[in-house]
Amino acid sequence: MFSYRHAFHAGSHADILKHLTLIHLVSYLQEKPVALTMVDTHAGAGIYNLQDGFAAVSKEAEGGIFRLLKYQEAGNQIPESIQKYIDCIQSENSSGEMNVYPGSPFILARMLRPQDRLKLFELHPKEIDILRHNVGELSCAKQIDVYDVDSFKRLKGLLPPPSRRGLILIDPSYEDKQDYRHLEIALEEAMQRFPTGCYAIWYPMLARRESAELPDRLKKICTTHKRSWLHTELRVENTPGERRLQASGMFIINPPWTLEKNLAEALPIITKALSVGNGAQYLLKSFEAKN
Ligand code: SAM
Repeated sequence: MFSYRHAFHAGSHADILKHLTLIHLVSYLQEKPVALTMVDTHAGAGIYNLQDGFAAVSKEAEGGIFRLLKYQEAGNQIPESIQKYIDCIQSENSSGEMNVYPGSPFILARMLRPQDRLKLFELHPKEIDILRHNVGELSCAKQIDVYDVDSFKRLKGLLPPPSRRGLILIDPSYEDKQDYRHLEIALEEAMQRFPTGCYAIWYPMLARRESAELPDRLKKICTTHKRSWLHTELRVENTPGERRLQASGMFIINPPWTLEKNLAEALPIITKALSVGNGAQYLLKSFEAKN
């Protein structure tokens, strides 16, 4: 427990899938002026140095954000949704160099309107200090609460949000295989209190039973609660024995109707831009519940 540091994975292909989806969800939910509460159940440190420390050691951003930028610099056209994601990442890099990569807390914080609130959970004893410091530097810090408690146990206590408009990002590290079970329990509890919330769950595609079964288990929860879902996966490589993460997925409960079209435009380009060898592919499926 607590060996996971997100800095090793900052700006990777998995972050691109997660953060591109997240930006679209927030933009859609902010189309109405009513206050939006955003919860990031697994926050990490908030923002990461790509030139130094863990990220510079792992170099995962080379196969992620840097590869995407090279694809664009080579003159390839990219759709607006990908441009919006790139603009968001570049806005943290005023020098023009890609020195830092914002994690989900910074991406969400930068999108806060005065009426919105952001709730961040982080359990790692070192990450929480870095997160608190980073959040303290933001001009919108007063709109953000940081909790150093187990989000699987405490998420339900924040739901439903006062305005009944909420986005919940659930992005565990899955370093403990119990995380899969804990996620399901927390999600069940959350959906009982707040069935109309938008839930965005990220997961790694690993050669592990719990990981392979997760999408079907999430679909079952949606069936029980009569909720719509969207399921997407991005594989950038298919090399047996490779230790690096080669694929990940996002499962969205109560997705906005615009998300599928948005991802249908973005995913072929992202897959092409990030592919290593011939094994790159994406998946995009959805189900609309009749209520
Ligand atoms: N959401 C971040 C982003 O996109 O930039 C990345 C988060 S990282 C995948 C997962 C984080 O969750 C780690 O920093 C880990 O310490 C933290 N964590 C693990 N279990 C937790 C729990 N039960 N409650 C809150 N945080 C937890």
